[in-house]
Amino acid sequence: MVEASEEVYSSLHHRFRGDLLRPGEGGYEDARSIWNGMVSRTPALIARCADVSDVQRAIRAASDAGIVTAVRCGGHSLAGFSTCEGGLVIDLSKMREVNLDSAARRATISGGCLLGSIDTATQKAGLVFPSGVVSHTGASGLILGGGTGWLTRRFGLSCDNVEGFTLVTADSSVVRANSKENPDLFWALRGGGGNFGVVTEFELKLHPLRSVVRAEGLSPEPEIRSLLECWRDFMAEAPLDLKWNIDLRLAPHNKRVPANLRGRPVASSSLVWTGDPEAARPYLERALSLCNSDSARSRSLPFLNLQTMADSEFPHGRRYYTKSGYFTYLDNSTVDRLLEAVATLPSPETQIELAYLGGAAARIGAQETAFGDRSAPFIINLLASWSEPSADAGNVSWIRALFNKLRPAMTPGVYINFMSGDEQDRVPEAYHERWDRIVAVKSHYDPTNFFRLNQNIPPRKCSS
Ligand SMILES: Cc1cc2nc3c(=O)[nH]c(=O)nc-3n(C[C@H](O)[C@H](O)[C@H](O)COP(=O)(O)OP(=O)(O)OC[C@H]3O[C@@H](n4cnc5c(N)ncnc54)[C@H](O)[C@@H]3O)c2cc1C
Repeated sequence: MVEASEEVYSSLHHRFRGDLLRPGEGGYEDARSIWNGMVSRTPALIARCADVSDVQRAIRAASDAGIVTAVRCGGHSLAGFSTCEGGLVIDLSKMREVNLDSAARRATISGGCLLGSIDTATQKAGLVFPSGVVSHTGASGLILGGGTGWLTRRFGLSCDNVEGFTLVTADSSVVRANSKENPDLFWALRGGGGNFGVVTEFELKLHPLRSVVRAEGLSPEPEIRSLLECWRDFMAEAPLDLKWNIDLRLAPHNKRVPANLRGRPVASSSLVWTGDPEAARPYLERALSLCNSDSARSRSLPFLNLQTMADSEFPHGRRYYTKSGYFTYLDNSTVDRLLEAVATLPSPETQIELAYLGGAAARIGAQETAFGDRSAPFIINLLASWSEPSADAGNVSWIRALFNKLRPAMTPGVYINFMSGDEQDRVPEAYHERWDRIVAVKSHYDPTNFFRLNQNIPPRKCSS
């Protein structure tokens, strides 16, 4: 591996326009870290590309040398796929351009953009791109896996709002994919993750929205069952302007939380209304009536505030472990399992995240994108978060045990962006009836599985 990385470095260093970082050199230590502190690896070379030609050069050099290669946008892969041990990291963090065409409600973004840079640019024209809920998340990984957030029910998944991709494939060619050019690749890139090449540009469809109504409240442990039962029935009929997420967790020790709830198991409701504020009232009042009245509040706020309010809850460098799945219906025995779990949470930041999709996301047919079937509206994400390595085993085993209990009631399928690094065997499940089609696209564009540090779709006739 050392020789291979030297070969890559020698072939790049005269012509590379960005930065080449090796262990021991200035900037390397910061550059090697990713968001999930559980993943600490030492790549032999980090190629921080300045432009598309740098990406092509890096892919060509790595492919010639046969070196394992990771691709990084925001470094938020929960599974830790955006780094590697002893190999090459293609780092896109210098490629963060957003070009807005406000009249056409379109934008193009480069492959290294974070969500916050898109929001800041598009909000100047009162426009939004539906993406995730934490502004320091990378746009590329999120969009390529699907992309859910506050606007999913109103405008669809992030990948549903991409009209074209430009990527550098494994043979270092620049390829475009949209509804007319390479439509199979266009299909695969909307949900198929980083399997097909390095996306250097996304063409995004935007929507008008400047502000939202946001409401929140906490339900104490004895009220969680009735809250969940009400939520599951209410959301099935709710307008697509309403997104209502529930996190089961220990209430934080802060002054916004009533003193008698601090540190206690609660269901934390977060609601966002994206339509006419006047029409929000009956829906928000109904939801907040299920919460402790001292914790319940609602207000209008600018879209940019909404998009950054969770940033500090998910800091870089903490230790995280996750497992996820879908439910067609949240049956009573699943609610029982969730109530048992909330009583045994292993750390104050660990949470069981529940969201209801449906709305615009559910209107896209199962065969239209690689993301596939959207008919199971309940998505659950079990997310453990802690700081001490000594707590690794306890947190990981808690998530695994809870997942095993919930699994029998889940609908087959998984959102690839909420998977851990030890779940490679679930990748076919993510694409189930679309598996043969996505394998065919992979086999065409990446026959040697050069792009394999991802929720990997192995090409046909490849043993790696
Ligand atoms: C704090 C936090 C909040 C999150 N919130 C949400 C949310 O609200 N909604 C949601 O849907 N998901 C969310 N996620 C999950 C998120 O979608 C994934 O973690 C995603 O992989 C992050 O993208 P990234 O670019 O930062 O990842 P990276 O770690 O940089 O990349 C992950 C993988 O994506 C691929 N990749 C990255 N860039 C490119 C590129 N330009 N071309 C080709 N492949 C590429 C590679 O395979 C890479 O291994 C969140 C994650 C975190 C950590």
